Amino acid sequence: MSDIAYLNGEFLPLDQARVSVLDRGFIFGDGVYEVIPVYSRRPFRLPEHLARLRRSLNAIRLANPLADAEWTRLIHDLIARNGGEDQSIYLQVTRGVAKRDHAFPADAKPTVFMMASPLVAPSRELIEKGASAITATDFRWLRCDVKATSLLANCLLRQHALDAGADEVVMFRDGSLTEGSASNVFVVKRGVLLAPPKNQLVLPGITYDVVLELAAAKNVPSEVRKIPEDEVRNADELWLSSSSKEVLAITTLDGRPVGSGRPGAVFKLIHQAFQDFKRKVMRQAA
Ligand code: PMP
Repeated sequence: MSDIAYLNGEFLPLDQARVSVLDRGFIFGDGVYEVIPVYSRRPFRLPEHLARLRRSLNAIRLANPLADAEWTRLIHDLIARNGGEDQSIYLQVTRGVAKRDHAFPADAKPTVFMMASPLVAPSRELIEKGASAITATDFRWLRCDVKATSLLANCLLRQHALDAGADEVVMFRDGSLTEGSASNVFVVKRGVLLAPPKNQLVLPGITYDVVLELAAAKNVPSEVRKIPEDEVRNADELWLSSSSKEVLAITTLDGRPVGSGRPGAVFKLIHQAFQDFKRKVMRQAA
């Protein structure tokens, strides 16, 4: 795959892309982003990613610099120029370059940046063994529904997990499940799939929606509601979902096995349904 990026109207090699040190993305983390998986050179759920980008931009009071049709054209162009079959498209919009001042600049032009990298799906071993997680208090801000580039808390939380030899954190706020550092989290108890509601405390994951749709299609009962900590600790199955991890079982939590300690039957059903669904969507787009 070539390393071609897009920056403010231009395609160029990633290592030649430059932004000013006064960019508010660099100075304040004042920007929003998206990560879009690409299968067989086709972006997955692109309209949904662009809709979430619009909501993030609205939330930070930044006008969308491009119409959806332009985003779509540029993203397809970037995929073609990079040339890999399965890619991960990263895009970010910041409030642009201005003299350092917390107040919004009157006339800054947003910085629009995109890059592509190979999409690395979880290994067969990880899918069959499951991931490990530790619990943590969710100390992020109260607008976790905004896909903001200011990810300091998420970075600290992910490193906290890695330092403990785990793959991800499972976070609680005021005694209820929120999500992971870069993933949504699901619980299965007695055959029922439980998901925390989409509110300002979690990122509305694109994969989260896919998981709930597949559960409905496979007649797995689901409940979207507040999930107290003890329900997570006594789960039969625990999963995480994200654009890069798809759906993955969490088989140890704080060093203890989740359920049987192996990916569960409901996970296997939905994981397979996800693979079938991806293939079907890609065929339809062809
Ligand atoms: N929550 C957080 C905090 C995330 O960063 C992500 C994705 N990076 C997700 C959930 C999952 O979202 P999606 O399924 O759209 O990738």
